[in-house]
Parts: sequence; C-alpha cells; structure tokens
Amino acid sequence: MNHRISRRTFTGAAAALGLPVLHEGPVASATESGAGLPDACAALSVRPYQLMCVICRVGAGGTDDLGDPRLTAILAAARQDPKRPLSLRCNVDTVYRYQNPGRAEDTDEGELFNAKRDLDILQKLGLVPGDTRPAIDLFERVLAQIPQARGICGYATLTSDTWRGCPQAASGNYEQGHALGINALIPPRDAAEKARFKQTSVAAIDQAAALRIRPHHLLCMSCFHGGRDTLAPIDEDNLCEAIEAVQQQPEIPITLIAGVCMICPPCGKYDPVSKLCVGGRSMALRDQKKDLDVLQKLGLKYGDTLPARELFRLLYERIASTREICGYGDGVTRAPEWSICGSAEQDAPYQQARAMQLGIDAEPAAHRSGAAGSEDADPR
Ligand code: SF4
Ligand code: SF4
Ligand code: SF4
Repeated sequence: MNHRISRRTFTGAAAALGLPVLHEGPVASATESGAGLPDACAALSVRPYQLMCVICRVGAGGTDDLGDPRLTAILAAARQDPKRPLSLRCNVDTVYRYQNPGRAEDTDEGELFNAKRDLDILQKLGLVPGDTRPAIDLFERVLAQIPQARGICGYATLTSDTWRGCPQAASGNYEQGHALGINALIPPRDAAEKARFKQTSVAAIDQAAALRIRPHHLLCMSCFHGGRDTLAPIDEDNLCEAIEAVQQQPEIPITLIAGVCMICPPCGKYDPVSKLCVGGRSMALRDQKKDLDVLQKLGLKYGDTLPARELFRLLYERIASTREICGYGDGVTRAPEWSICGSAEQDAPYQQARAMQLGIDAEPAAHRSGAAGSEDADPR
C-alpha cells in the first residue's frame, strides 16, 4: 500500500483536524537558503597530521603563508569556504586501504611514524580513514579532542631512531595554536556586517505581514521566552523580535521553511553568501533533523502556513518536551555531530513557555528593554 500523503490529501486531512493551513508552497527570500541547491564543491584530501601542523604553524606565528605550500593551501581553502569538505586519508594496511593516498606527503620521520601519527590522530578524533567533514567541523574537532602534540608527534621516551618523532613536538607551537582557538584559523563573521544584518532583519520582522520560520526555531523561541514577562533582544539572533511579533499579532501567519529563517541573519553562524548555517560540529545537520522531527509531530510540511496562535497551540499540544526533538527522544549523544543542546537537558525554560503559551494573549506583551542575560539562539 502506498502511504505517501499528497499535498492535496494533507490539506484535506489538516482541514479535517481543524488546522487552518493558510497557504502551501516553498519560496525563498533574500536571506534564506532556498531548496535543493546542490553544493558541488569537491572534497580536498588531507592527511590527518596536516590539520595538526596547520594549527602548529599558526601557533608559531604563521598567518596566511605557513611556510609549506600544502599547509598554506589547506588553511586558505578552509578560510575561503569553511564548509569545504575535507577527506582524511592516510596509509593503512587494512580493509581501509581503498583510500590510501600514497607516501608523497609523508614527512621525513619515516613510514612507520607517519602511519602511527595519522592513526593516533584519527583515534583521538573518533574517525576512520576516508571520513569527510566540513573544514570548520574538522578543525573544531581537532581543537576539542587534541590539546597537545605530546604522545602524537613525539614521545616522552626515545626508544629508537625510528620513533624519534617530529623535531617540533616539544616546541609548544601546537599548544599555542590550540590556545588561539578556531578564530585564529577561520576568522569569525565581521561584527559590522552582523550589526547591519541585525538592523535590516529586525525591520523586516517589524514590517512583515507574515513570518517565515524554520520549524525547530518555534521551540527555540520557547526556550528563549522561558516564561519571562519581559524579554530583551540580543545581537546574535532575532528570537526576541519574533516572539514580540507573535505576541502583538497572534493571528500573524507563520510559514514553515527549510534552512535559515528570519531568526538567523545577525547570527555569527549565518553565512550571507551561501545563506547556510555554518555552525560547527555539524549544527546544520542536527537542525535539519530537528526541523523534520517537528514537522512530523505536527503533521505539517515545509511551505505550510498557519496563524501563530494556532501553530503554537499545536506545538505545545504535540511536543511536551525539548528532549523529544533536541534530545532525539532518548537523550543519548552518539557522536559529536549529534550532540544535545543544553536547553534539552534542562527543559524548564520550554516548560515555562509552554505553560504560558509563549505569552500569546498575555498582558503586557514583551518589551524590548529591561531584561538582561537572555539566552543565545546558539546554545547547541
Ligand atoms: S609537532 Fe610537528 S608533526 Fe606535530 S603538529 Fe607540530 S609540526 Fe606537525
Ligand atoms: S533545546 Fe536548544 S536547540 Fe532545542 S529548542 Fe531549546 S534552545 Fe533550541
Ligand atoms: S545557529 Fe541557529 S540562528 Fe544561527 S544561523 Fe544557525 S540556525 Fe540560524
């Protein structure tokens, strides 16, 4: 039996459930990612040790030219496009040899040391030969899981010349690069540009006849609200402004869209060129799953439009806890890419917003001043 539900069938079903689906059909605005855009960027093959060497040379004071053409090229590629896929390839004797890159980029310390150093790094990263990730994800993962060169690039005891290690292993350069962090490798978004996007996107919300919001941001709005009577906007997102719009116009239509939405333009993770979220540790991957999980629970799909009051009523009726969405139901973290937001582990803010129906119809509506210490939209 074919269980697929066509748009027409759903519209009928939604009407039968009493859901006022006002409009269907995905369209993208200037700050949205649009649907189905292919990302044909080829993966760049790198040796695992080269990621550490990039950090090491930045720690030694390198900026753009790292004094090694290969390392310089890797850093330039990551800076030009932080989502550029990097494939970790190394020489192994086992079933993973299908991805062996050859010895041309081995360093001078010999085959055995080169093989062990790469596998040591993959083991610490929890990855395997051939794994591919966006550049920013891989560098963040190295920084998170490899704090020092000791034990990887050189050993405390010299057991033989074969295991003499890299001459820089005890220099402290890697540790210095590690201390500088991700911003020294991939500079953050320009603050003035973020401020400009904040201004224009808040104006867009203020003037909007309808809001365009990705599904799981309805929950983030709730976590931000947290049952507070008075809210204050933050520079990093437009959650506060979207809540205000809903409180002041409970019947305002909300269209559920894929990818970045009206909440995102001022965010440090928002890439205005690709109109994608480039949050590290594969934030965009988690967010897509959260969006689809919300749609499934609500029985809706991208492009559907409901009045705000009705949409939040449905949200709070069908989703009792952020753990159902942001904790994947069971609260188990199975990989760094599938980490769990702190507000899913401590669910009280969502519960309080749910109890108040986001302050819709409450008096007084939210104000744009007074409260401090708002949550960031990016706690994941
Ligand atoms: S110690 Fe040597 S091998 Fe290790 S990261 Fe630094 S330069 Fe690279
Ligand atoms: S738990 Fe985190 S990701 Fe989930 S809705 Fe709340 S703030 Fe957003
Ligand atoms: S982190 Fe959240 S608010 Fe920022 S761009 Fe990504 S989805 Fe949007």
